[in-house]
Amino acid sequence: MRLSTPSVVSDPHTEYLLHCTPTPQGINGMIRLKNVEKSYRSGAGETFVLRRISGEVAQGDFLTIMGPSGAGKTTLLSILGMLDGDWRGEFYLYDHPVHAMKPRDRMELNKQYIGFVFQQYHLLDDLTVYENLEIPLSYRNVKRKERQAMVADSLDRFNIVGKKDLYPNQLSGGQQQLVAVARAVIADPKLILADEPTGSLHSIQGKMIMDLLKELNAQGTTIIQVTHNEAWAAYGNRIMNLRDGWIVESLDR
Ligand code: ADP
Repeated sequence: MRLSTPSVVSDPHTEYLLHCTPTPQGINGMIRLKNVEKSYRSGAGETFVLRRISGEVAQGDFLTIMGPSGAGKTTLLSILGMLDGDWRGEFYLYDHPVHAMKPRDRMELNKQYIGFVFQQYHLLDDLTVYENLEIPLSYRNVKRKERQAMVADSLDRFNIVGKKDLYPNQLSGGQQQLVAVARAVIADPKLILADEPTGSLHSIQGKMIMDLLKELNAQGTTIIQVTHNEAWAAYGNRIMNLRDGWIVESLDR
């Protein structure tokens, strides 16, 4: 497993990140979780969705989260992606204590480090492929000229130049997911979170997306995916099995 420090970004929106106090352990794994729990109120009681989730993900890992429906996989991925802030426990991303941060600061951290790929693509239907790819860059205040160059590179890299003026509903599922992956990686995130990225695709399209994730991982991007598919799980180097919110198995491959 490779360990390295994050690159420093001089974006004014993320300046504050540089001033966070390192944890006593310093920069170790990319992600460290300690006793993360989530529950919902149900009547007079409480239903737990995640129980005492602890562990580390190192930079360069390709981790697969598996488990039956309702096990808490999507919930865990949403917490890691900072889309869900309603949980207890400790979560460090590098030396940033996510559990102690305000929602706005979490979003900044998300923008700086994370690309998310959803099963249902989540492209914006009234924007073209080109415009969808531009969005993460405008969030990061990338200047117009630079944005144009980066989108052109991305269209090239993903072999979708010919689709740039089309809208998502003019693309096949596989092409939409290709655009969604392109959008997730355009700003070069250190971490990609993918929630059943091939769940809506035919096997050939699914393999294309998985090969792409594997290639990004080989180039150093950390990947955490949720899948039910054993063959796709084999693309990674670690598997974590969840059941009823508990980690029941954690394997290095
Ligand atoms: P998985 O991705 O493994 O299928 P989820 O993380 O989607 O599981 O859901 C885990 C559990 O949390 C499920 O039992 C689900 O019913 C429950 N859950 C999700 N959202 C809510 C909610 N808003 N209120 C109550 N329970 C919820």
